[in-house]
Amino acid sequence: MELEGVRVIVSRQVCALYRVGQARRKGIKLPVFRVNTEKCTGCKICINTFGCPAISWDSEAKKAKIDPTMCWGCGSCSQICPYGAFEVVREAK
Ligand code: SF4
Ligand code: SF4
Repeated sequence: MELEGVRVIVSRQVCALYRVGQARRKGIKLPVFRVNTEKCTGCKICINTFGCPAISWDSEAKKAKIDPTMCWGCGSCSQICPYGAFEVVREAK
């Protein structure tokens, strides 16, 4: 993105958002994750070192938050938070 000119991105798998849309159309219920605000210390490790676009910063609460329209329930976030703040609230069906 920092260089001028045409660039090509070769993706190794389908876009996660496309996968979310496909699952919804097929009626598949994906796992639902949330940030447990009691456990989130606001360390921002998930913001600064992890690239999931579904995770953003709630500047009022000073906690991480998950956009449910972008999360496809992969569970990777639950492995990177040192405080165990990412929790599954509904398993896939
Ligand atoms: S969710 Fe975990 S990694 Fe992200 S800010 Fe909160 S405590 Fe830190
Ligand atoms: S489960 Fe966590 S890492 Fe996976 S898409 Fe949702 S917020 Fe991102």
